[in-house]
Amino acid sequence: MSAETLNKEILRGGQFLVKETDCEDVFTLEDLTEEQKMMRESTKEFVDRELWAHWERFEKKDYAYTEACMRKAGELGLLSVAVPEAYGGMGMGFVSTMLVCDYISGATGSFSTAFGAHTGIGTLPITLYGTEEQKQKYVPKLATGEWFGAYCLTEPGAGSDANSGKTKAVLSKDGKHYSITGQKMWISNAGFCNLFIVFARIEDDKNITGFIVENDPSNGITLGDEEKKLGIHSSSTRQVFFNETQVPVENMLSERGNGFKIAMNALNVGRIKLAAACLEAQRRVINEAAKYANERVQFKTPIINFGAIKAKIADMATNAYVDESACYRAAKDIEDRIAIREADGNSHQEAELKGVEEYAIECSILKVAVSEHVQHTTDEGIQIFGGMGFSADTPMESAWRDARIARIYEGTNEINRMLAVGMLVKKAMKGHVDLLGPATAVGEELMGIPSFETPDFSELFSEEKDMVARLKKVFLMVAGSAVQKFGPDLEKHQMLLMSAADILIQIYLAESAILRTEKNAKRFGENPQATQIAMAKLYLYRAVDIVRQQGKEAIVSFAEGDEQRMMLMGLKRFTKYTNQPNVVELRTQIANKVAADNGYVFD
Ligand SMILES: Cc1cc2nc3c(=O)[nH]c(=O)nc-3n(C[C@H](O)[C@H](O)[C@H](O)COP(=O)(O)OP(=O)(O)OC[C@H]3O[C@@H](n4cnc5c(N)ncnc54)[C@H](O)[C@@H]3O)c2cc1C
Repeated sequence: MSAETLNKEILRGGQFLVKETDCEDVFTLEDLTEEQKMMRESTKEFVDRELWAHWERFEKKDYAYTEACMRKAGELGLLSVAVPEAYGGMGMGFVSTMLVCDYISGATGSFSTAFGAHTGIGTLPITLYGTEEQKQKYVPKLATGEWFGAYCLTEPGAGSDANSGKTKAVLSKDGKHYSITGQKMWISNAGFCNLFIVFARIEDDKNITGFIVENDPSNGITLGDEEKKLGIHSSSTRQVFFNETQVPVENMLSERGNGFKIAMNALNVGRIKLAAACLEAQRRVINEAAKYANERVQFKTPIINFGAIKAKIADMATNAYVDESACYRAAKDIEDRIAIREADGNSHQEAELKGVEEYAIECSILKVAVSEHVQHTTDEGIQIFGGMGFSADTPMESAWRDARIARIYEGTNEINRMLAVGMLVKKAMKGHVDLLGPATAVGEELMGIPSFETPDFSELFSEEKDMVARLKKVFLMVAGSAVQKFGPDLEKHQMLLMSAADILIQIYLAESAILRTEKNAKRFGENPQATQIAMAKLYLYRAVDIVRQQGKEAIVSFAEGDEQRMMLMGLKRFTKYTNQPNVVELRTQIANKVAADNGYVFD
C-alpha cells in the first residue's frame, strides 16, 4: 500500500454528508491502471464472445449454457479476482473486483446473477468468516469454478425479515454433527451448485447461525422445480429442502448466533457489486439505442434527430455516467480503508470485513440508485425501439425484464433506503459521523439573515459545488428535525425515511459526478470534458428537483406553524440556483455526442 494512501485522509462511511471532498481525493474510471484496463478488455472480450453473441440462449432457459459459461469464466480466472492468493485466487483489490463484476454483467442478467451469487454471497462468507481449514478446503475449488456456490437465507416466511427463518440446526448427541431441516426459497444457482451457505437456528437462539453445506442429494437435500420468472430466464432459481441434512460441526461458519451478521456483511458487499453489475447493462442498452435511433428513419429523419428521443438518450447516458462515478468512488474508498486496516495489523480477512462494513451506507445508496437507473434506461431503450422494443427478438425486451430483479434481491430497495438513513443516524449516535454539529449550524443559519451578495460562480463547478453543499444542509435540516421530533421512533415513520433516503442518494450521486468531472477537467482540460461537464450539471439539476420535492413532502408532514414556514423557506433558499442551467441545451449537447459516437463512450 502506498504512503499516499496511508497519509490521505479518507472519509469514513457516511461522512460525505458533512465533509467536503477534494476532487483529487476521488477515484475515477479514468484512474484505472494499465493492468486494470487490460482486465477490463479481456472481460469485455469474454462477454462479447460467450454471452452477448448468444443472448437468445439465455432467453430460452438454457440453464446448462449459463453453467458452461460459468465454467469458462472460471478457466479464465474471472471467478477468482476477489479470492486471496493463499486460496488460489488473484487477490486483487476491491476496485478490480468491481471492474470485473461491472463488465461481466452487462450482456444478460442470467449470467450476472449466477456470477454474483457464486463469487459474492456464495464464496464470500467463507473467505470473510471461514476458519483456515474451511478456506483451504473450499475456497480454491470455488475460485477456479471446479465447484459453484449458492446462498440459502430466504425462506417462504422469511424474506426481508431474514433473521426470522424457521430452518433448524440440531446438534447430534455425540456433538459431531448438526442436523439441518428446513425450506429455503429463491436460491440462485441451486440447480448446479456444489455447496450451499445455509442459515439455520440452533434451539431458540435469537440469531441464526451460518453453515457450509455440501450439496449431496443422498444427505437429505432436494430441490424444487426451476421457478418461472419474469426475467433472468437462465439463472437457476429453486427451492432447496433440507431434511435432517447432516453437517459436521466443523462446518459451522464463525460462531453460533453469528449468522445474521454474516448474512448482512455478505450483503453489504453484494449490494455495491450489484450496483456495479447494473452499469454495463446501461452502457450496452445505450449503445443499442443510439445505433437504432441513428438508423431508424421516420418522417424522413433518423429518429435520433428528434428532441423527444434526444432527451431520453441524454438522461440515459447521464445516469450511467453518474452511477459509474459514484460506484468507483466508493469502491476505492473501501479499498483504501482495507489497506489502512491491514497496515494497522488487521488480517486481510478482518480488514476487508470492516472496510466494507464501514461503507454500508454507500453500498445501500448505490444498490438503490443504480438498480433504479438501469430500470429506467432499459425502459427508455424499449421506447426508443418503439414496437421493435416490445419484440422478444431484440435485446431491449430481455434487458428490461432482467433489470427488474435488481430492485428486489440483495435487500429490496425499500429496505435499503431505510437502512441507509438508519445506519447514518446510528453512526451519528455513536459519534462516528458528527451530524449534530452541522445540523445545529444549519438551524442557526436558518434563524440568521441570508446574505444578499451575488457570489462569484465563474470557476468551473463553483455554483454546482455550492449547491451540493446546500443540498447537504437540506438533509441535515430535515433529518435533524425528524430525529429531534421522533427520536428512536423515527424508524416507524417510513415515508419520512424514504424521502430522507432519496435526498441522501441524490447528494452522493450528484457530488460524485461533479468531483469526477472536476478532476478530469483539471487534468485533461475542459473542452475534452465538455459532455461530461454537461452530464454532471444535468444530473445535479434533476437531483435538486428531487431534493426539493422530497424535502417538501417531509417538512409538511411533520413540522407545523412557524417551524414549518422556516424550514420551507430554508428549503427554497438551499435549492435555489443563481444561474439556472439551460437544460435543453445540456440534453442536446449530451445526446449529440452519443449520436455522433453511436454509443456510450465515457467509461
Ligand atoms: C430471482 C431471485 C433470486 C434470489 N436469489 C436469492 C438467493 O440466492 N439467496 C437468498 O437467500 N435469497 C434470494 N432471493 C430472495 C430475495 O433476497 C428476497 O426475495 C428479498 O429479500 C425480498 O424478500 P421477499 O421476497 O420475501 O419479500 P418481502 O420481504 O415479503 O417483501 C415484500 C414487499 O414488502 C416490503 N417490505 C418488507 N418488509 C418491510 C418493512 N419492514 N418495511 C417496509 N417495507 C417492507 C418489501 O420492500 C417488498 O416491497 C432471490 C429472489 C429472487 C426473486
